[in-house]
Amino acid sequence: MKRRTFIKSTSLTGMACTLPPFITTSFNSDYSTEELMGKADVELFGEGINLRKEAYESFLEMKKAAYTAGYDIKMVSSFRDFYRQEAIWERKYIQYTEDDGMDPLRAIDKIIEYSTIPGTSRHHWGTDIDIIDGYPKSTGDVLVPEKFEAGGPFEGLKLWLDENSEKFGFYLVYNNDPRRRGFKYEPWHYSYAPISIPMLSAYRRLNVLRLLEKEEFLGTEHFTTGFIKTYVQDNILDINPNLL
Ligand SMILES: [Zn+2]
Repeated sequence: MKRRTFIKSTSLTGMACTLPPFITTSFNSDYSTEELMGKADVELFGEGINLRKEAYESFLEMKKAAYTAGYDIKMVSSFRDFYRQEAIWERKYIQYTEDDGMDPLRAIDKIIEYSTIPGTSRHHWGTDIDIIDGYPKSTGDVLVPEKFEAGGPFEGLKLWLDENSEKFGFYLVYNNDPRRRGFKYEPWHYSYAPISIPMLSAYRRLNVLRLLEKEEFLGTEHFTTGFIKTYVQDNILDINPNLL
């Protein structure tokens, strides 16, 4: 018995010496870093839908069911790659720092009220959607919380989604829990949990700080370790607990 314990412990120590930690973690993930950061060419399904296969099929089922109940689910945004997010980020950064004269750190705080840092968006995954009801007439920006509340054009769809979306695997990400930090309430943003849960756990194993240090889009020079740590904790992980 003693000898067996000895062999077991020495072989474990041997393992720890020969395998650097990053190799053990990358074995556990079905998703590459490129894929998780929106830089890979992933296969997406449905014209104007652009989701991973299983998410697409479930989305169609949900759309059909909503249609029967009198709502026309319209996709506003689904898959968005790194470079598209980079363009959104830089446009806002220039607007806030140059047009509005904000200092860089304030501009970054303002951008991350609603927009993600490129490489950290759930829209990179092909599992997340921003949706509205296509039937009611509405003017101006559609992704506004009030439009989904009582008296707003998308109130009916929102109530239907509250009752039904989870049956199809779609969960609200940035809910209206007042204790939640990070991104503000987004009543339009749903995530296909059967795929996005494993993708988020793979994402959590990445060293986001190290990965963002390699990027060169506007504003990255102002990212500090503390800022990125808080951003990961609040904006990536402080979401609907059913999606963790
Ligand atoms: Zn969204």
